[in-house]
Amino acid sequence: MNSQKVGILGGGQLGRMMVEAGSRLNLQVVILDSPLDAPAKQIESTQQHIAGAFNDETKIRELADKVDVLTVEIEHVNAGVLASLEKAGHTVHPSPFTVQTIQDKYVQKNHLVAHGVPVADYMETQDRAGVEAAGAKFGYPFMLKSKTMAYDGKGNYVVKSEQDIQPAMEALSKTPLYAEKWAPFTKELAVMVVRRANGEIRSYPVVETIHKNSICHLVIAPAQVDGAVLRRAQQVAENAIKSFPGAGVFGVEMFVLEDESILLNEIAPRPHNSGHYTIEACETSQYENHLRAILDMPLGSTAMKVPASIMVNILGESESMEECYRPCQEALTVDGATIHLYGKKGCRAGRKMGHITVVGDSMMQVQQRLAPILNAIEPGVD
Ligand code: ATP
Ligand code: MG
Ligand code: MG
Repeated sequence: MNSQKVGILGGGQLGRMMVEAGSRLNLQVVILDSPLDAPAKQIESTQQHIAGAFNDETKIRELADKVDVLTVEIEHVNAGVLASLEKAGHTVHPSPFTVQTIQDKYVQKNHLVAHGVPVADYMETQDRAGVEAAGAKFGYPFMLKSKTMAYDGKGNYVVKSEQDIQPAMEALSKTPLYAEKWAPFTKELAVMVVRRANGEIRSYPVVETIHKNSICHLVIAPAQVDGAVLRRAQQVAENAIKSFPGAGVFGVEMFVLEDESILLNEIAPRPHNSGHYTIEACETSQYENHLRAILDMPLGSTAMKVPASIMVNILGESESMEECYRPCQEALTVDGATIHLYGKKGCRAGRKMGHITVVGDSMMQVQQRLAPILNAIEPGVD
């Protein structure tokens, strides 16, 4: 089918689902990650994977020597090494420039603004005086954010008043910071966009994402919002991705404001949690299209093949594995439900252990099917 070997920096659930998609196409995938039993490594026994950090220059070069195309399942990698490998003639997708730009949220925002993409006002905050200046400029609350290494809201702090500045700076002391004006959104939307190196772009339907404690909880596809808003969101997402060179799939997170205008929140240069639903609900999954894009194969259709779907994340509640399997046990009895468990060995509160996607003939049917699963996650709440 395609004899080029793919090397992935990172072996978590996104890499695992890339391997799943690749296996159907007989693609060979090699993983670089520290654990010998990383989720992606567990399901690919035909390759000699590499044990090491995706920031370790020697290990990244070792991976590059084994494969034809390098890609990532996480943006917090050593992009400098990827850039020097690309310069030396290796194929790297997404482009190291893109990874480097996106992995620093402040640099990402500068890039987006330079390309006319709407984002919330933001400013650099070098020190306490800078954070105070952000409060004076944006008013309270505003969001103080880590420029780098952020995920699941862990690099964010809502600064509600001047009293919060000190604790915010202490909580986020590990990385350089910047401030963002509060976006009083009515909904959060996301779009997966896939781009081939020749610039061809296809986008998936707009979905609504619902977060709980800053971690993605539900993804509703398609988003139940007005058609004009959907078109605007898709346009913003596509325009943003057109501004980045190279191939791959991208997750674009957006806010819808009261006046129905759209602000782009952030981009992930890789498959994304808001695109898990594409495995069961779309003609080609985000994982397969990512592989097709980076191997310069024709992109598959991004259309939904079912009328409606909702994905729910299975998060660890404690160290008990049993607790997090409860909704999965329930899903076994639900028509249209597909369970994905990631093979993670340890469970802890908030850790993404798996997800369940429910499909159906209408959104109402999907909601009805989902109800007992949500009830198993949190009795009495949906
Ligand atoms: P991810 O896991 O998606 O990578 P992250 O750690 O990079 O998350 P963000 O996407 O920046 O964090 O923010 C997490 C959530 O916090 C957003 O989905 C949104 O709900 C809220 N949020 C972020 N920025 C703002 C803002 N400027 N105004 C209001 N809410 C915000
Ligand atoms: Mg992020
Ligand atoms: Mg985010």
